[in-house]
Amino acid sequence: MGLKVKVDKMLCIGTDDCSKIAPNTFELDDESKAVVKKQNGDSDEKILEAAKICPVLAIVVEDENGKQVYP
Ligand code: SF4
Repeated sequence: MGLKVKVDKMLCIGTDDCSKIAPNTFELDDESKAVVKKQNGDSDEKILEAAKICPVLAIVVEDENGKQVYP
């Protein structure tokens, strides 16, 4: 499908959950905040799973038309 992700760095508390589930899409920067390493680095399923496990809803997922699909 081609989901697009954004991370709200102000919300991120650096739990590292997203990058464990979708390690080719998310990584932690040197401030322990998640950043997007590569769009579509992982499957849509993994990307959505990563967004859903984020305890502070810092990961915003949009579909290919820019419609927000999560949260
Ligand atoms: S799961 Fe959420 S809080 Fe944890 S590192 Fe990823 S974006 Fe940050």
